[in-house]
Amino acid sequence: MTTKTDYEAVIGLETHVQLKTRSKMFCRCDRDYFDAEPNTHVCAVCLGMPGMLPVINEQAVAFTILTGLALGCEIPQHSKFDRKNYPYPDLLKGYQISQFDQPLCVGGGLDIEVDGEASFVRLERIHLEEDTARLLHRDDGGGGGSGGSGGGQGYSLLDVNRGGVPLMEAVTQPDMHSSAQAVAYLRKLRLILRYLGVSDADMEKGSFRCDANISLRPRGQEELGAKVEVKNMNSFRAIQRALETEIVRQSEILDARDTVAQETRGYIDATGETVSQRSKEEAHDYRYFPEPDLPPLLTEPAVVEELRTQLPELPDAKRARFQEQYRLSTEESRVLTESRRRADTFEETAGHSQPERARAVAHWLIGDVTALLHQVSADAELDQTKLTPAHIAELVDLMEGGTITAASGKEVLAAAFESGEMPAAIVEAQGLGRVDDEGELGGIAAAVIEANPKAVTDYRGGKESAIKFLVGQVMRETRGRSDPNSAADALHAHLDAS
Ligand SMILES: [Zn+2]
Repeated sequence: MTTKTDYEAVIGLETHVQLKTRSKMFCRCDRDYFDAEPNTHVCAVCLGMPGMLPVINEQAVAFTILTGLALGCEIPQHSKFDRKNYPYPDLLKGYQISQFDQPLCVGGGLDIEVDGEASFVRLERIHLEEDTARLLHRDDGGGGGSGGSGGGQGYSLLDVNRGGVPLMEAVTQPDMHSSAQAVAYLRKLRLILRYLGVSDADMEKGSFRCDANISLRPRGQEELGAKVEVKNMNSFRAIQRALETEIVRQSEILDARDTVAQETRGYIDATGETVSQRSKEEAHDYRYFPEPDLPPLLTEPAVVEELRTQLPELPDAKRARFQEQYRLSTEESRVLTESRRRADTFEETAGHSQPERARAVAHWLIGDVTALLHQVSADAELDQTKLTPAHIAELVDLMEGGTITAASGKEVLAAAFESGEMPAAIVEAQGLGRVDDEGELGGIAAAVIEANPKAVTDYRGGKESAIKFLVGQVMRETRGRSDPNSAADALHAHLDAS
């Protein structure tokens, strides 16, 4: 779809992240409700009973500050909680405890890259609040059976397990201009959260949720257009599609010289469309006021510095170090730092082998080992299998040291994956050592020549490709225990002599 005017999209993101604390934000209920029966992780506080007093979860505050430090935010000494008032059945108290004008973290941002083009997405703030209960809409008439008006009367069930779970919200400035940049930002943020260990950041499980604000303006114009908030996107693919759909929809409205309504729209996954939900609220609609049941938060600089010492090496730094220290390519370092565990596995494996073999270790981890892990699950790591860094290192050493060929290496790896036996023992037991005895290889070459007179005639007649066929036959005879170059040498020795 083309538009008559060239517009620039302006995108800001609000990401809600459930924190992986032990208990909920303001009570002692177990935070991990996933897979639990509805309403089994609840108490008087998170059920919003009158007169119950909240208590601040210090781990949630620490996790939020840690995230702020990783993203270069400022941590103001004074912060506080506020009541955000709105009537909705998922809020049992009638208000949500959130942070309004004094969030825990201010500013900061993160570097992203799309198609080799780097940019910086500024953060406005990161604040802490409580998650709401979950409404489960039912449309089946609830066992009423026949009768009824046939008007599809639905009802909603309420599960309060999620209510009161610590929720961290990161709000960006409107610094992104394409759906690809938005997804790059979210992927990077998710990776950092997982490195920090503050959240599973799993979109499917709802522990990483994103709303997007998007407006269009004629290219070159400073002033922002009317802002539309898009909700209900449950995957990176959905976010990409929703933003692209919205850019086309708004372009068409502007092309027709109409005005885009400032509103909230929901994304429908089945059609890829967005539909109007309600006109967008302004902050004053929520009648924010300081939470009277909680004291203001005082964060001493010493506490911030203590948390700073707990920061792990972050993905960008690790990637740069892998390239420098182990001489890996950009792509190899990127793949190996996609999770902290994978990066640790690589370093541990490289540590078992010789320094100059780190690249070979990386190569095997990314290629054949990853293929085997995928048999376990899409995101399996080495420690979920019988393989250990010591296995991989021994295998690489056997190949790099010339004891076995790469073809045999694949076979040994598969066997080790099945049994957990060490590679050297497998090579010994199965007789997979490389055929490097000239006599033995020569004998096999002679037999292959004897058995394939047509290929030999072709070769002598100048058909170079015939040698490849013969090499293949030698490899087959040795079950991959010879390498193609030695096989070719042995064949040539015989062919050129006779
Ligand atoms: Zn509770």
